[in-house]
Amino acid sequence: MANDPLEAFVTTAIGVRDLKMHYGDFAAVDGIDLEVTTGEILAFLGSNGAGKTTTIEILEGFRKRTSGEVEVLGVDPERAPLSWREQIGIVLQESEPVPELTAGEAVRMQAAYYENPRNPEETLELVGLTSSADHRTRKLSGGQKRRLDLALALVGDPELVFLDEPTTGFDPTARRESWGMIEALRDIGKTVLLTTHYMDEAEHLSDRIVVIGAGKILARGTAEELADQVNAQTRISWKPDAADPRPPDRLGARVDSTTGQVQIDTKDSLVALHELTNWATEMGVSLPELNVARPTLEDVYLQLTEGHER
Ligand code: ATP
Repeated sequence: MANDPLEAFVTTAIGVRDLKMHYGDFAAVDGIDLEVTTGEILAFLGSNGAGKTTTIEILEGFRKRTSGEVEVLGVDPERAPLSWREQIGIVLQESEPVPELTAGEAVRMQAAYYENPRNPEETLELVGLTSSADHRTRKLSGGQKRRLDLALALVGDPELVFLDEPTTGFDPTARRESWGMIEALRDIGKTVLLTTHYMDEAEHLSDRIVVIGAGKILARGTAEELADQVNAQTRISWKPDAADPRPPDRLGARVDSTTGQVQIDTKDSLVALHELTNWATEMGVSLPELNVARPTLEDVYLQLTEGHER
């Protein structure tokens, strides 16, 4: 029994057991389990050819699986009715809206396909397109087109949104703006399955991460849990003055011959920093360019996927 009464309301948006997709002898997806909880943003990561698109197309009902159990919003996508499709929003990497329509017209037209759409004007506002609503879609910038894609996927008021590399090719400002939009989806209770090759994006947006490599799940958990799985360490470094004494051996410091930095790799950065700064204060050492670098998701991802490329 759950101790927290709210736990009783946690539901599964996507449940996958032992999913396999074979092309002849080749196992593109090789027995994966996957669970996405309602209301979370899950980042699905993997190198080129790892099996992400194949898996997602099966979840979206666009591809028949070889074997395994799949439930998306409680329904097997291979036998899903039209009402199920209306609960799914899909934002593909590339799409071409009808060029003669304005952004507002495109969203209103899409809304007309649904029984209970979101308000088109509110949807345009959610994705930050209100001021461009009267612009023809062919005149929209790349970033604005992606906003329109998102608006078109959201106007049917889906429960679950698939976002495929939503910020590829964006400039840094447009990326940050998109992140805000994706976070807004979480705020209105949507479930998001996000694929991206940008590790900072996955780290910033996702509640949980699943890493796939050569058709198998390599790791799953929060960014911190993944870092623990590869025993990733925090690096404390500084650039010593030539006359500085050596730090005590117990700190495990070593000199990087390329950069001249002194580095300490540690799982317990607080204790190491405490000892280091106590020693430095006692010895009158100023620790120039002192830096504390937590392992990034990119470092962790590279370790997790090493040797699992196709
Ligand atoms: P990317 O990041 O490049 O989009 P991905 O993780 O989405 O990669 P998939 O597109 O799912 O990878 O492909 C997984 C593997 O299955 C790849 O090796 C690919 O070549 C292979 N594959 C995909 N579709 C087919 C097909 N129709 N016939 C044969 N092999 C296929």
